[in-house]
Amino acid sequence: PRKRSKASPRRAKHASAMPSQASMPLSSPTNQSTLNGDTTTTATTNPMRASASVAKTEENNTAKSLITVDTSKARSNLPVVRLCLRELGWKECVHGSTVDSDIYWHSASFHEGHTTFPFTSGRVNKFPCMSDLLRKVHLTRSLNNMRLLFPNEYDFYPKTWFLPEQSQQFKDDVRYLHQLDKKHNRSPTTFIVKPSDGSQGEGIYLLRDPSHIVNTNRPHVIQEYIDQPLLMNGLKFDLRIYVLILNLYPLEVYLYDEGLARFATVDYKAPTTDNLHETYMHLTNYSLNKRSAGYKHPVDDKQTDGSKRKLSIVWKQLSEMFSNEKVERTKNLIVEMINKTILAILPELRVAYEYDLPLPKRQNLSCFQIIGFDIILNHHLKPILLEVNSNPSLRIDFDKNEAGKIIYQPSPIDEEIKRPLVFETLKLALPKKKLDTITRHAKIQANEEIMAQRVEKVAQRRLEERSEKLKSARKTRFDMKLNPFFSRPLESIAKEFVRQQQEQQQHEQKRFNHAYPTHSIIGSLSHEDFTPYTFSNNNNNNNNNHSQPIGSARKIMRRTKQLNYSIDDDDENGSPVTTTAVSQTVVLTNIKQSSTRSASHRPRTTDATMLKSINTLKMIFPVEHSTKYRHLLLVDNIAYIYIQLVVTLGFKTMTGGQFRHFANVCGIMNESITAPTIDILYYQILKKWQQFVLRTTLTGRKIK
Ligand code: ADP
Repeated sequence: PRKRSKASPRRAKHASAMPSQASMPLSSPTNQSTLNGDTTTTATTNPMRASASVAKTEENNTAKSLITVDTSKARSNLPVVRLCLRELGWKECVHGSTVDSDIYWHSASFHEGHTTFPFTSGRVNKFPCMSDLLRKVHLTRSLNNMRLLFPNEYDFYPKTWFLPEQSQQFKDDVRYLHQLDKKHNRSPTTFIVKPSDGSQGEGIYLLRDPSHIVNTNRPHVIQEYIDQPLLMNGLKFDLRIYVLILNLYPLEVYLYDEGLARFATVDYKAPTTDNLHETYMHLTNYSLNKRSAGYKHPVDDKQTDGSKRKLSIVWKQLSEMFSNEKVERTKNLIVEMINKTILAILPELRVAYEYDLPLPKRQNLSCFQIIGFDIILNHHLKPILLEVNSNPSLRIDFDKNEAGKIIYQPSPIDEEIKRPLVFETLKLALPKKKLDTITRHAKIQANEEIMAQRVEKVAQRRLEERSEKLKSARKTRFDMKLNPFFSRPLESIAKEFVRQQQEQQQHEQKRFNHAYPTHSIIGSLSHEDFTPYTFSNNNNNNNNNHSQPIGSARKIMRRTKQLNYSIDDDDENGSPVTTTAVSQTVVLTNIKQSSTRSASHRPRTTDATMLKSINTLKMIFPVEHSTKYRHLLLVDNIAYIYIQLVVTLGFKTMTGGQFRHFANVCGIMNESITAPTIDILYYQILKKWQQFVLRTTLTGRKIK
């Protein structure tokens, strides 16, 4: 049987059964006016403003539609992606598009049923073949290979055998291990059997006696069971850590600093033949434990005893149990484990990538992917890798069975964790070319804004002058009525009026200075490319710290405009020419400043999730000033050479012997990297490539 997709039909159905918001505009007319800071009253009383407002709305839409995301294959990811897109103001193509999008968000795989990816540019959120490479059998093979090459570096994965191929080997090893256990007076080692393509704990069982293996054709792995896991309040738990592979050329890996901890629901006891079947004690999967009477649904994200907890809460709880150094060490080990695991699958990932996206193609089309690491801590706080999930669930709801009916309810803890993850990923994944276009667009808008402001300012000034005259005339009349003896000469009234105006200006200026201290401006590109979208938590009354898309540059302009008016007040006594020149400089400065500020006009003014979405994804590979992983890139280098020779240059007849000779000439072989090791690598890479060649022959497609 095939792997049950994580986006099961039931979930897909659920996703599509949700009220489609696709037809809804990204922001409603009400929001639009709020966003722009315009009110209908202003628009009707000031025709110039009204037309400016219409123009702004149009420009706003243009800016938004600059970034498009194809969500037609997002299925169970759709709700969270949609939330983020609305927040970012990017355009969602829920029914797909005939033209290229900037980002394609798939729920399961790169191809999603197509033999060839139908578009030529943009970024796809899945790498070709990733789910294959991360299946338990395949991942184990890659990690075992690396363990062969670097025995001391890959000790974070339990000893694992393949079934059915290694059944005999397993039986022999068990006999030996149990003898050792007896000798050391320990209870016999336990093993856990898992279907290679399984998920959510399905098909898993524990055993001690190899004769208890259930015979099946389905590939399985059998793994040493970690029988002394770290417990919290007597319960076993595992960690779900989210990792983003942003680029393959060069490799860029980001670690998300929030995640999930999933708890078992029955107090843990060391395995005995009597309790091996106790699912709720030995397995921590949410999908299983949610059915347990002991399952505690988290009511909010701060809950410290829920069966699902935020990773940050668990780190805090662990630092109450262990010293800070120990906890920090565990975190560092996790980072190393992630990098080493990705380096282990990298050669084959590159070969797969090469097939679907050879060089000219991948200049415009490339991939990124969020993957989920499942990690358990042993009683010494040492992290141990259980598996890597190519499609970690991004659901932000949970289902409940009520009187035989499945009910879907929002899950605040999932939203709190997954929404910023997707939000930050989208921002990071945006193609650089697109960023350049948007930055250019923002500059053009800024210039247009300046022109519009000049015109508007002149009109405004005329209006103000007229109303000033009217006010002053009224005031004089009023004064005369009250004081028939003209006790206050007209001159003093005029002075008083000027004083009041100045006071008002000073007050405005103070508010402006307070709210907008000088800031560094749009950062350089590279991975700071995204600075224009991020907002520092510096400011205002709303204490609002959303990230703001440059696509909504119009909002920035609106803010700029308000600032500009305040500054105009300052310049009231200056000549109109000077005023305009000064205001132009100020506008440009403030556009840049505003881009690092909170978007006070956003419809969601206080949103804890987005507040915390800053700096949540941290680059862990490549690491600056560190040569820690250089030697591990050996296999990747070999894959690279292989790709160049065999794939790109077409030396399809390169044999194992030639490859070995070649590796020797390149000086790759040494005491630990022996000829058989090179053979394994050759075979591994060749096999992967042949898989594609076969596919090629079947579908009649030709490799260049
Ligand atoms: P699945 O993909 O089906 O969730 P996992 O490999 O994640 O499979 O295993 C499911 C659960 O079984 C884990 O969450 C963990 O609680 C437990 N588990 C898996 N492997 C081991 C192991 N080697 N030692 C101890 N517990 C394990």
